[in-house]
Amino acid sequence: MKNGATTAVKREPVLIANRGEIAIRIARTCRALGFPTIAIYSEADRFSDHVKACDQAYWIGEAAPKESYLNVERVIAAAKKGGARFVHPGYGFLSERAHFVEACEKAGLVFVGPTAESMRLMGDKIRARETVDRLGVPRVPGSLGAVANAKEALGFAEKVGFPVLLKAAAGGGGKGMRRVDSAKELESAFEGATRESLGAFGDGALYVEKLILKPHHVEIQVFGDGKGKAIHLGERECSIQRRHQKVWEETPSPLMERFPKTRDAMFEAALKITSHVKYAGAGTLEFIADEEGDFYFLEMNTRLQVEHPVTEWVTGVDLVAWQLLLACGELKWPEIPARNGSAIEVRLYAEDPQNFLPAPGPVGLIEFPSGAFVRSDAAFSRQGEVSVHYDPMIAKVSAWAPDRQAALARLRTALDEVRVERPRKAGGESVGSLKTNLPFLRKLCRHSDVLSGNTATDLIARSPELTEFQNTPPSKEAVLAVALFQMLLDTESQSMNADPSDPWNLAALREGVRT
Ligand code: ADP
Repeated sequence: MKNGATTAVKREPVLIANRGEIAIRIARTCRALGFPTIAIYSEADRFSDHVKACDQAYWIGEAAPKESYLNVERVIAAAKKGGARFVHPGYGFLSERAHFVEACEKAGLVFVGPTAESMRLMGDKIRARETVDRLGVPRVPGSLGAVANAKEALGFAEKVGFPVLLKAAAGGGGKGMRRVDSAKELESAFEGATRESLGAFGDGALYVEKLILKPHHVEIQVFGDGKGKAIHLGERECSIQRRHQKVWEETPSPLMERFPKTRDAMFEAALKITSHVKYAGAGTLEFIADEEGDFYFLEMNTRLQVEHPVTEWVTGVDLVAWQLLLACGELKWPEIPARNGSAIEVRLYAEDPQNFLPAPGPVGLIEFPSGAFVRSDAAFSRQGEVSVHYDPMIAKVSAWAPDRQAALARLRTALDEVRVERPRKAGGESVGSLKTNLPFLRKLCRHSDVLSGNTATDLIARSPELTEFQNTPPSKEAVLAVALFQMLLDTESQSMNADPSDPWNLAALREGVRT
């Protein structure tokens, strides 16, 4: 039984302390394994699909995360009310909060993840850096811990050489990070990064790192038994990022295909760390690798990653099943799984493809591709709302094939089939597509550097063509088809009121015929 998907056995209930696509994805595996499921939802998620995906659901508060998904007492109260035995945190929200793990234990619930202690040790960037130093795992040159002031930062910057990065000790999601190119910029950058970090994390501590040029983000998926045994499930390359946030993830890493010895060294380092901290369950060691084949530890994420599907594609392992079976003491300890083929995932966001700014709003129709070796992990299956209160990710679309070029071809075809539209107006008239990064993703999977695997983290910044979009006028045929459709519906009065930027607006179509 490789991925734990046996016929359902009656098991104790799991509270899924999350929302959106990850809550739905966890619920599916729970069902396959016979775990009853309990959803929690905020006011904004009253009608969300993750609520329907579970056997029971509890309202836990207002839309703001701190009133609901980040509110430990309310999450625990829902778990107790629903008769949960396990709590699966997903990613984000409370997934990396050690005090939540302790609160679960105190309430007699089993947290599906590592202990509070290993979370504190590896989840804290500075403590994690101290640990990897002791284990002899390379980290980016710079200060070990937080620096006291700009002067101390300057000392480290001069030692490792400019450019450097100032990074928030409490950082995450790319926030509180500043590139500094020279000594004269340092003081104001230090002040700015301190302020940003204080605002975002309530902690202004910063550390200094050498800026690695042409960096690639390569991470290793690990799984530990909580007693010192650890295996890895290969690497993922997540170098294609906007605002230091991933938008494309793949395995194997195109860079590591060129440096197999570096990859082996990274596996070894990842296993050393995982065993040392007696890590339990799924975790990820993030590294930066450069084009010389050197690598450096960045941080550990003590939870399931957004991009775990690509690892599942190549290993055939259901990581959530392993997490659950480990938590209930039923996991037969696995061997390091063989990895087969190539998998790529993209993140579909409700955001402006020109500047990546969030563009939340209602979704009237969503359609995902089905087909051989294509997977869509979506927050909703037909319609829903991308809320202003949460991350605007709509779905993850991934594809597998025996080799990278074939996986790219499958992904291209799949993305061409995705449709995301706004709700229709009364009378059935569509008001057009929702603003998403879909046009950007479609370009990305055709970009020459992506095709050749030349995907350092600066790819988007150095490729302005990826974010340039013209409102291409529709063809004559499209205009005729829409005109016919409109005549059939006799919606003359409605088209008068239509949004002129809507590609299905007849008046706008007539003005911009492409010949
Ligand atoms: P966060 O926890 O905020 O996500 P990370 O330390 O994981 O911060 O870094 C996020 C991204 O920022 C990395 O994937 C990489 O693209 C970039 N980055 C981080 N540190 C460095 C560095 N020293 N040199 C170059 N790029 C870096």
